[in-house]
Amino acid sequence: MLYNDYTAKLIGFQGIIVTNVEESTENLIINAEMRRKPHNCPCCGTAIRAIHDYRKQRIKYAPSHGKTVVILLRKRRYRCPHLCFVSL
Ligand SMILES: [Zn+2]
Repeated sequence: MLYNDYTAKLIGFQGIIVTNVEESTENLIINAEMRRKPHNCPCCGTAIRAIHDYRKQRIKYAPSHGKTVVILLRKRRYRCPHLCFVSL
């Protein structure tokens, strides 16, 4: 089993890719992103492929071995070709 799959399963998130894990004496920072999959615009139903931008969501997780655990989830925001604004 790949390290990424194991870490994702360990923290209980399905369908994420762990891109990096940073550990210090006080913190464990898990950088992750969602697997890319096809989406349809919730406004007009058109298939969306173009990425508008990215943003990072900070998720504080249960402490582990006395360390604060934070998941930094990199989320994509898509742009509908009909200019609907979509965040998935
Ligand atoms: Zn749309």
